[in-house]
Amino acid sequence: MRIAVLGLGTAGLTFISEARRIKINAEIVAFEKRGRSVFHPCSIPEALDGRIPPEFLLEPLPVNMKIVKGEVKEVDPFSKTVIFESDGSIGKEKFDFIFVGTGGDTVLPFRDPRLCKATKYEDVVRIKEKLVDAGKIAVVGAGVLGLEIASSLSKYKTVHVYELAKNILPGFLDEMLSQELKEKIELENKNVIFSLGVKVDNPQDIDADLVIFCVGFVANDPLPFHIKVDEFMRVYNPDTLEIFDNIFAAGDCIEYEYKVPRVAPVAAEQARVSARNIKSMIEIGKPVEKYDNSFFPPCILKAFGYEIGRVGKLKNPDRKDTEKFVLDIRILPFADEKLKVAIEVDKDGFVQDVQGISRLRSEVRHLLDIFYIAIKRSIKIDQIRRFELSYQPEICKFPDPITSIAEIVSRRIGLM
Ligand SMILES: Cc1cc2nc3c(=O)[nH]c(=O)nc-3n(C[C@H](O)[C@H](O)[C@H](O)COP(=O)(O)OP(=O)(O)OC[C@H]3O[C@@H](n4cnc5c(N)ncnc54)[C@H](O)[C@@H]3O)c2cc1C
Repeated sequence: MRIAVLGLGTAGLTFISEARRIKINAEIVAFEKRGRSVFHPCSIPEALDGRIPPEFLLEPLPVNMKIVKGEVKEVDPFSKTVIFESDGSIGKEKFDFIFVGTGGDTVLPFRDPRLCKATKYEDVVRIKEKLVDAGKIAVVGAGVLGLEIASSLSKYKTVHVYELAKNILPGFLDEMLSQELKEKIELENKNVIFSLGVKVDNPQDIDADLVIFCVGFVANDPLPFHIKVDEFMRVYNPDTLEIFDNIFAAGDCIEYEYKVPRVAPVAAEQARVSARNIKSMIEIGKPVEKYDNSFFPPCILKAFGYEIGRVGKLKNPDRKDTEKFVLDIRILPFADEKLKVAIEVDKDGFVQDVQGISRLRSEVRHLLDIFYIAIKRSIKIDQIRRFELSYQPEICKFPDPITSIAEIVSRRIGLM
């Protein structure tokens, strides 16, 4: 048995470690453009604002296995053949299974020397070089990526952020929270200007020396069609709906119908499910594990001193009888600091969506992780109210903000 792993990012590396852990009896051959190095995209904001040197984004790959340094050009899903370019020549190899973890990238829509993206190591080096002479900086897109990049670059110069929607973090934050956050950011940071409701059609219209595009993310799909997956993470052709039993995919290379954040923990879990299903395909001829894709996965960002996050169930159009509460939870003993929360629950007390903003370190992370488990395990809000969460005055607060939120919401929906 031979398995090809295309791309050694979060998905590819997790696939290999899971395959080894569960002892898949096969030879694994990995194909990676960068060769034997690991790249950490999540630390790009830290590299841009100077907290770490850009070189820290790359590290040698510890995996002891066959890696082809080269770019996969094409995959024939019928013959399970990988066509790749390595050292200037084209190669072709056949496999029994193919795991696709090629991620995605921002595609720059115009040719203009002032334009950059911010997703790869080379982008960071280029931005840092251009920063030296750049007087004015623009960021296009006030989504998760755009906001983090704008925040990093605002340490050096004034950053003008252009966003098509009427709010920052559109499709991520509730409008009210988004509006309040924008006002606070503007009030506290003289180095950022937001222009909302503006479509950037031509970069010539932007008065800046450096324009960083943080919109237009496109999946890298070496297959002859856009990559869609079924619940077992098997790839199917969205035009013919044909499922390929021997081709699996995970992470950012997958196209979704709905807007969900593309985050590392999702890529990793989808890769684990893929590895387990390839093992069961080899052993019993069918996949056994399903990936639960009904979630808006926990997603957290840090920008302009705020930690901002969301977790929940994906919006189901049939979702009814839900109520939303926007709360300002005081975090004792930090009298001035609050945790702003928007929480949506159904009439039976099942949490549907949670969003949070705070300046306090790890408060939003704690909120997302506890509510992720509660949503995943169908724990009702009045049960969360009685969680005995840890307490030590230097580390955490009492009462814990989670139990306070659960208490307020339980009371308001009449569960206590
Ligand atoms: C600036 C930034 C900040 C982020 N911050 C966070 C964060 O804080 N938290 C979080 O959870 N997520 C964050 N993410 C998202 C997270 O990095 C991705 O969701 C995750 O890395 C996706 O993993 P992946 O394996 O699908 O793709 P990637 O990690 O992108 O890996 C894809 C790999 O495939 C290789 N490849 C692509 N095409 C080919 C080809 N044709 N042939 C050979 N090799 C190929 C690439 O070189 C790459 O190594 C951030 C992303 C960016 C850009």
